[in-house]
Amino acid sequence: MRTIAAIATPPAEGGIAVIRISGDNASGIAERVFTPVSGRNIKEMRGYTACYGEIHDGAKRLDDGVLLIYRAPHSYTGEDSAEISCHGGIYTAKRVLSACFTAGAVPAQAGEFTKRALLNGKMSLTQAEAVADVISAQNEQFLLCAGSQREGALYRRIRAVSDELLSIVTLIQAWIDYPDEMEDEFDGSLEAEKLRHIADELGSLVASHGEGQLIRDGIPCAIVGRPNVGKSTLMNLLSGTEKSIVTDIEGTTRDIVEETVMLGGLMLRLADCAGIRETDDVVESIGVERMLKKLGEASVVLAVFDSSRPLNRDDERLIERLDGKRTLCVINKTDLEEKADIAALEDRFADIVRISAKDPASVKLLEKAVSKIAGIGDLDLTAGFIANERQRICASEALDHTRKALEALESGVTLDAVGIMCENALDRLYELSGEQVSDTVVDQVFRRFCVGK
Ligand code: GDP
Repeated sequence: MRTIAAIATPPAEGGIAVIRISGDNASGIAERVFTPVSGRNIKEMRGYTACYGEIHDGAKRLDDGVLLIYRAPHSYTGEDSAEISCHGGIYTAKRVLSACFTAGAVPAQAGEFTKRALLNGKMSLTQAEAVADVISAQNEQFLLCAGSQREGALYRRIRAVSDELLSIVTLIQAWIDYPDEMEDEFDGSLEAEKLRHIADELGSLVASHGEGQLIRDGIPCAIVGRPNVGKSTLMNLLSGTEKSIVTDIEGTTRDIVEETVMLGGLMLRLADCAGIRETDDVVESIGVERMLKKLGEASVVLAVFDSSRPLNRDDERLIERLDGKRTLCVINKTDLEEKADIAALEDRFADIVRISAKDPASVKLLEKAVSKIAGIGDLDLTAGFIANERQRICASEALDHTRKALEALESGVTLDAVGIMCENALDRLYELSGEQVSDTVVDQVFRRFCVGK
C-alpha cells in the first residue's frame, strides 16, 4: 500500500496541527522530515512512543514538534503510522504536509485512513460509517448513539440476525441435499418461528432509522396557538434569545421563526408558527398556510393556550387540526387569573403542562413533559441503529426477503425456493455489515468523510 499523508486537524489556526502518515514507509518518510533532538533512530522507535525534534523540508527547517510512532497492526489503520504535531498555523501544517509529499508520501483521499482500517479488518463497515457520525455529532444523545455504533453495536445486532438466518439456510440445504439422513420429517414450524423472530428484529432495525434521525438532526417541533397566547415568548424562553418578536398586537408572528434548542438532552427543531385565525390580511394568511405545512411536518406539537382568556373559535379550530398529532397541550399565562375552560382542554389532551412562559422555572416543567411525549426518552441509545440510507435499504430488503421466505414456508412452497429467499435476505445483511460489499459501495461510504480521517 502506498504511504499516504494528510493534515488531520481542521484548516484553522490552533494550538497544534497534526499531520498523519500511514503505510509501509511511514517511518521512512517521518525520518526524512523529522530529526529527533535526542538523536534517536526513528526506524527503531517502538509503537506508541514519541519524541521531540525538528521538522524540515530537505535542508530547510520548518518548525519544531512531536513525532508519535505506531506499529502495525496496532494503529488506527492497522498499518505502520506516524503523526507529527507541529504548531497550529494553517501555513505551517501545509508546509509540513508538502515536506511529507517530497519525502515520498502521496495525498490521502477523503476517508482513506478509515478505509484502510476497514480493509485491514480493524473495523466493520458500519463501524467505519459511525466514525463520520461521531465527528458530525452535535448533541450528547447522538454522540452516545454514534459512539456505541463505532464500538460495533449495530454490527453485533446484524451479526446475531445473520447467524440465525445462516443456520436456517444450512438446515434447509441439508434437507434438500440429504433428506434420507435427516432424523425427523421436515415440518418447517421451527424454521417459521425463527424467521418470524428474524423479521421482528429486522423490523425494529428498520424503525431505528427514523429514531436515529430524530436524535441526530433534532425533533421537528411546531409551536402553534392562536395569536397572543405566548408562542413567541415560549420560543424565546426555550432558545434563550429574543429571536421571536414579542408584542401584544395580535398576529405579530407572521412568518415562521425556527431555532434548534437543547431541552433536557433532547435536540428540538422548534418552529414558532403564526397563529390560526380567520384573516383578510394576505401576508398573515400566507403565514397561516406555512404554519399548516409545518404542522404537517412536525413530530411533536406544542399547542399553546392562554389560560387568562376564554377559549374561542380559533382555539377550537386549532384543536380540530391536531387530530392524530403527537401533541403537548401547553396552558400558558398561569400567573394570571384563570378564565379559560381548562376542563375542556383536559378532556381533549392526554398530555398537559401548565406554565408561565415569562417564568424561567417553566423550562424544567417543559423538559419533563416534552421528553415524555417525544417518544424517544425510553430508547436504548447504545443498542445500535440504522444510521443512513445505504443501511436502511439493505435492512428493508433483508426484511422483505425474510417475509417472503416465511410466507413461502407457511404456504408449502418448495424448500428450494424458501432457501433462495433466505439466501437473498442473508446477502442483504452481509452487504449491510460490509462482509460482502462491492468496491463502489465502499467508495461511496468514504466519500462522506473528510481528508485526514
Ligand atoms: P404569540 O402571538 O402567541 O407569539 O404571543 P407572544 O409571545 O407575542 O405574547 C403575547 C403577549 O402575552 C405578550 O405581551 C407577552 O409578554 C405576554 N405573555 C406571554 N406569556 C405570558 C405569561 O406566561 N404570563 C403573562 N402574564 N404574559 C405572557
